[in-house]
Amino acid sequence: MQGICLLGATGSIGQSTLDIIKQHPEKFQLVCASAHSSVDKMADICRRFRPARVVMGSEKARDELAAKCHGLPISFEWGSDALDSIAADPQVDQVMAAIMGFAGLKPTLAGIRAKKRILLANKESLVTAGKLFMDEVAQHDVMLLPIDSEHNAIFQSLPQSALGATKKDVKKILLTASGGPFRSWTLDDMRHVSPEQACKHPNWSMGQKISIDSASLMNKGLELIEACWLFGVTPADIDVVVHPESIIHSMVSYLDGSVIAQMGNPDMRIPIAYGMTWPDRIETSVPSLDLVGIGQLNFESPDLERFPNLKLASDAWYCGGTAMAALNAANEVAVAAFLQRKIGFLDIATINGEVLNQLESHPVASLEVVFEADENARRVAKNIIEARVWI
Ligand code: NAD
Ligand code: MG
Repeated sequence: MQGICLLGATGSIGQSTLDIIKQHPEKFQLVCASAHSSVDKMADICRRFRPARVVMGSEKARDELAAKCHGLPISFEWGSDALDSIAADPQVDQVMAAIMGFAGLKPTLAGIRAKKRILLANKESLVTAGKLFMDEVAQHDVMLLPIDSEHNAIFQSLPQSALGATKKDVKKILLTASGGPFRSWTLDDMRHVSPEQACKHPNWSMGQKISIDSASLMNKGLELIEACWLFGVTPADIDVVVHPESIIHSMVSYLDGSVIAQMGNPDMRIPIAYGMTWPDRIETSVPSLDLVGIGQLNFESPDLERFPNLKLASDAWYCGGTAMAALNAANEVAVAAFLQRKIGFLDIATINGEVLNQLESHPVASLEVVFEADENARRVAKNIIEARVWI
C-alpha cells in the first residue's frame, strides 16, 4: 500500500490522480491532500477519501472546510509550512506535485528532502529552480517520475534510468506539441482572442493557466527547459515537433536511425498511473488507442514568429541562472492579466520578452536567489502592465 500526498487535489491533475487511487484502493491510499481555495471540491474529497491531513491556502478556507466536514477524523490545516509538512509526512510514500505555478516549488522540495517518490506535474518548480532542484534529487537519492505527458513519454522511450544523464546513443529528443487552439490562425486573428477561446484546448482538458500556456506555446517553452533539466541535455538536443492529434506524446531518436515513441489517447491518467507504479503498469480505464479510427497523424514545425514564447524559453535557458525563474514569473503575471482581460493574448509574449530584457540574470546559488528573482520579475511585469493601455 502506497500512501499518497496529493498537492493540488482539486485541480485537473489532482482529479485524475484521485481517479487512479479510486480504481486501485488495494494499492493506494490518500493520506494527505491540499487545495488553495476550493472548499466544496475539497469537502467532497474529504468525504470520499478520508485523508488524515488536509491543507488549505488560507485560515478562512480551512475553517470553512472544517465546518463542512465536521465529525470527520481529519486534521484541517492551512498555509505554506503545513504544505511542506504534509509533503514530508511519515505516512506518505509518494508526493504528487500538482500545484499550479511557482507556488509548487517549496512543498515539492520538502517532499524531496523527506526522500519521498516525487511525481512531478508542476513543471514550473523544475523550470525555476533547475539545477538546485536536480541536485536535491541526487543528494537525497529520490526517485523523480515525470508526469507531464511529454516527459513521461520521453522517460518511457529512453533506456531505463536515463533521468539526469542521457545515454550516448541518443541523437535527439523529439518533443511533441499539439500547437494549441490557434495553431493555424494568423497573427491578426490571434490579437483579439478571448480567455475562453484560449482555454479551449483541442485535445486535453486542463487547468486554466496551462491551457493558456498551451495556446501561446509557453507551455512548450517551459517543457523544453523541463526536459533539459530532467534528461541532462540542452535545447540544441531537442526538436519541437507540432503534432496536432496529440497521440504521440514525444519521441527519442537514436544514432542508428531508430525512433522510439510513446503513444496513447490524450488522458493524463496514463502518465499519472505510470509514475505511481513504475516500473510496473496498471489498468487506468483509458480506452485503447484506435489507430485505424484515427487514420492519420500529422507533423509540422513550430512557427516562432507567431509563437515567440518558445524562442524566449530557449533564450532563457542559454542565458542561464535566474533568467528561467524570471521568464516563468513574468508569464504567470501576464497570463493572470490576460485572464482578467487587462491585456491581449499576444501581449503575454511581449511582456515576457520585456521582462527578460530588463532583468539581469544571476547564478542560482541558493533557493533564496530563486525566490528573489521570482519576486523581482513579478514586480517588473506588473509595472510594465500598469504603465500602458493594452486593450
Ligand atoms: P489546476 O489549475 O487545475 O489546479 C491547480 C491546483 O493547485 C488546485 O488544486 C489549486 O487549488 C492549487 N493551487 C493553485 N494555486 C495555488 C497556490 N498558490 N498555492 C497552493 N495551491 C495552489 O492546474 P492543473 O492543470 O491540474 O495543473 C497543475 C500542474 O500540473 C501545473 O504545474 C501544470 O503545468 C502541470 N501539468 C498539468 C497538466 C494537465 O493536464 N492539467 C499536464 C501536464 C502538467
Ligand atoms: Mg505537457
